[in-house]
Amino acid sequence: MNRILVTITTLDQHFDEIANGGDAYRPASCPHCQAGGLWHHGCYHRKADRSEARRNPVAILRFLCNACLRTCSRLPACIAPRRWYDWAIQQVVLLLLLAGVSLHQGCRQTGCARSTLRRWRDWLQTRSAQFSFFLRSRLPELGRLPEPDFWPQVISSMSLARVMTQLDRDLVVP
Ligand SMILES: [Zn+2]
Repeated sequence: MNRILVTITTLDQHFDEIANGGDAYRPASCPHCQAGGLWHHGCYHRKADRSEARRNPVAILRFLCNACLRTCSRLPACIAPRRWYDWAIQQVVLLLLLAGVSLHQGCRQTGCARSTLRRWRDWLQTRSAQFSFFLRSRLPELGRLPEPDFWPQVISSMSLARVMTQLDRDLVVP
């Protein structure tokens, strides 16, 4: 399930969609158990961007899976999940480390804690094979990139946020 609905790019579209029943937000299947036929299940509220603060809070529809009784929801593209901001910082750190910068230097250059850098580095190492498999299958042009160049090339050409948006179609990230 794609947790971000890329076709809804403004809050006006989001409110129109909700006023029209919000079916665009209904996932085809449950992200937890893959059963189909999810039901509307109220909504929760969250803040939109600072630039749209006057319209806060924004209702986000929730859906209930009748099979496993868990709920899920999807965000419009105009409301970034919190971690989407984090990708930008994480991208800087990963590109430094991939370029061979030491953890010590990485800390000094980014102001992030050493433990944070180590966690992000280990996260990418652990998930690398799985992530690159899905990326190569979705984006055939990446198939030819040799392994050592893969992440530096992919992250700097696509941005880590876009990489994760792509992966979000197939996997649960991070
Ligand atoms: Zn389910």
